[in-house]
Order: sequence, then structure tokens, then C-alpha cells
Amino acid sequence: MTASGLVTATAPRVLLVEDEPTIARAVVDRLVAEGFAVDVAADGPAAVDMARACEPDLIVLDVMLPGFDGLEVCRRVQAERSVPVLMLTARDDETDLLVGLAVGADDYVTKPFSMRELVARIRALLRRVQRPAPDAASAPHPPVLRIGPLEVDARARRVRRDGREVHLTPTEFDLLACLARNRGAVLTRAVLLEQVWDWADASGTRVVDSHVKALRRKLGPDLIRTVHGVGYSLDSA
Ligand code: CA
Repeated sequence: MTASGLVTATAPRVLLVEDEPTIARAVVDRLVAEGFAVDVAADGPAAVDMARACEPDLIVLDVMLPGFDGLEVCRRVQAERSVPVLMLTARDDETDLLVGLAVGADDYVTKPFSMRELVARIRALLRRVQRPAPDAASAPHPPVLRIGPLEVDARARRVRRDGREVHLTPTEFDLLACLARNRGAVLTRAVLLEQVWDWADASGTRVVDSHVKALRRKLGPDLIRTVHGVGYSLDSA
């Protein structure tokens, strides 16, 4: 199903994956009114097929779905093509669980959510993936940052640990680059949310924890230090 209002060639294309018709309808209506082109899938397998066929700019993905769940959709879609994913979770504790699993979603919104919040999060996520890397644009920092065993190449958006390339999602890279530019400094979750996720409010700080956890899993546990009650810091040892 495709719903489109005044869609231009530049309208961002959103794939909504939601099996509850009432929620799906409400989200589609609002996104179309906001100028997005929207495709809808109501189960896991259809979501994967539509992501392939429609090449959306962003996916809004419910977790509990018929067929297979949103985590599996996220895995299968990301294996083919890097696309930002905003997950819809049923409860705060479901968000906690997903954060713990570090599934690689770029952001989470807990039901019930306001349409206004959802649209704001979608716009923030699209802005973030569409803007050039700050280092590449103005080069105020050396393009390759070396921190202990770590090499962060801002221009190529590549990361090596001990000379071995590590594959990161775009959000994971942005978070690491932000910590690397501020090496040694403790950055609060609120600052990271603003710098990396482009949010001014700090209501969703667990998304930061989720991505730190994913980075530690990929880069090793020794580089990003937790400063309890404050935030995170990237140190060379
Ligand atoms: Ca559901």
C-alpha cells in the first residue's frame, strides 16, 4: 500500500511497519500531511520485501509483528542496505530490552507517542543522515583521529582498531566520532543526544546507552569509559 499526498521528487520516503491498523492509519495520515511519501507493511516478511522494493529513506518499525519481529526485520534490511531505523516499542521495559540487545536501531519511540514527537524524531533522524560529516565539510579537525589503538577517519567514515577495520552503523560512527573529537572529556548523555541525534530534549537518553553498548561490543570494552551519573568519555587507555 502506498499513500501519497502532494509528493514531489524530493519527498522523503518512509516505510511504516505496523500491524495495528488504527495506529498505522493515524501515522500514515500524519506523515502524508507532513509531506512524506509513505509505504506500509503489516508483517515482517512484507517489511523486508518492501524495504527492498521501495528503498525508503527511513523505516519506522514496530517491534511485535506477525511473521517475524522488528528485530529480525532490522537485521535483514540492514544486511542489504544501510537505512535509518526508528523503532516503535510497546512499553518502556521493551525499550530497555532492545537497548540491552543493542539491535542497531537509530532511535526509539515508546507507545503511546504523540504524532508531533514522532514527526520530530523522523525529521531529526533524516537531517542527521543527510548532512555531511562535520569533519568532512569544514575540516576543523584532522580527518584521521588516532586514539590509542583506534583510528577514526572522519572523511571516509571508517574506523580501525589495531589496524583492523570495524564496520559501524552510521549512528554508531557519529557517536564514536563525537567522543573522539572530544577525547578525554566526559560528555553527558544530553550533550551526546544533541550532538549526535540532534535532539534538544534529553527524554531518550537510553538510546545513547544502547549505542555505547554496541560500540563496546565491536571495538572492545576498554575504550569508552562510563562516568557514573555523568556520561561517557573516550580515553586512549
Ligand atoms: Ca505490533
